[in-house]
Amino acid sequence: MKAVKIIGKELIEVAEVPVPQIGPNDALVKLQASALCRSDLYRYHGTTCFDDDSAETNYTPGHEPCGIVEKVGEKVANVKPGDRVGLYMMVGCGKCQYCLHGDQMLCSDFGCIGFQLDGAHADYIVLPSENCMPMPDSLSYVAGALLTDVGGGLYTACRTLDVKGGSSVVIVGAGPMGCGGVLYAKAFGAKVIVVDIDKNRLAFAKNIGADYLIDPTNEDVLKKVKKYTLGRGADISIECTGNEKGANIAFDVVRPLGRVGIIGENASCTFNPSTQFIHKKLTVYGCWIFNKHDWQEIVNFTLENNVAIEKLATHKYAIEDAQEAYKVFDSHGAQKVVFVW
Ligand SMILES: [Zn+2]
Ligand SMILES: [Zn+2]
Repeated sequence: MKAVKIIGKELIEVAEVPVPQIGPNDALVKLQASALCRSDLYRYHGTTCFDDDSAETNYTPGHEPCGIVEKVGEKVANVKPGDRVGLYMMVGCGKCQYCLHGDQMLCSDFGCIGFQLDGAHADYIVLPSENCMPMPDSLSYVAGALLTDVGGGLYTACRTLDVKGGSSVVIVGAGPMGCGGVLYAKAFGAKVIVVDIDKNRLAFAKNIGADYLIDPTNEDVLKKVKKYTLGRGADISIECTGNEKGANIAFDVVRPLGRVGIIGENASCTFNPSTQFIHKKLTVYGCWIFNKHDWQEIVNFTLENNVAIEKLATHKYAIEDAQEAYKVFDSHGAQKVVFVW
């Protein structure tokens, strides 16, 4: 089978490797759609977003996939060959309080596909069968793949932040995460203001439903947000850039007692606790990967509200063209880049 390997800085090889073997509790899944995520680019650039040496490893990247179950181990009862499944990226010990609760990413023994385990930019993947999440026929493969990371992440972030009709939400960053946020915040009924310095990305955000756009290069963000919120400031902000300026904007645009969700990964950031947090009595949430038990709710909400998650997939490639796919994704010339079969 074919599998993407990162063989050097910004260098991709599509290698021929053996189809992995299944254990008694595993499923072999034939991938149908498998998205690129910004965190794949850390490895592509020879760095990492984890506190380990995952940039140095040779694991196949890719953690935002779905496919068809091809074969299962003898102890597997939850899926069978032919099932369409989204794949949960995190594998935990399966026994600790976090794993039992569906928060595998918090397990002290976790591994994420594409980083500490072989990932899904490949024809096949083997995972514990419990990582297979059922997909209804009405959910396309591309949409299903996107729900396993950006879609599920932004749906649950909006839910955690209590986004609802009447809320004003500032989304900082109009890349795939930010635009996923636009789709879900609009579906929850909120007024959505998007901040970015990239005109194409702002136009994309507008096209999928953003109400107001702000470009910090030539506009005063705080003034504009106040203007759009009757002078109050936003109820909620969602930081999707992963840069220090973006995080500071997210803290500053919300009103007193507002809520901030941090999604963009960032190694460090300077802020002023007194003026930016304490004296506004803010609540700040770290919004990482969604809880596995939320999958059905994510799928239902997306389908019932016609959330056009598939629109984020602006570029699709065959896995053979992985070098080009990574290059285009890295150039900011795309929203989501997805491998399809
Ligand atoms: Zn990701
Ligand atoms: Zn665990």
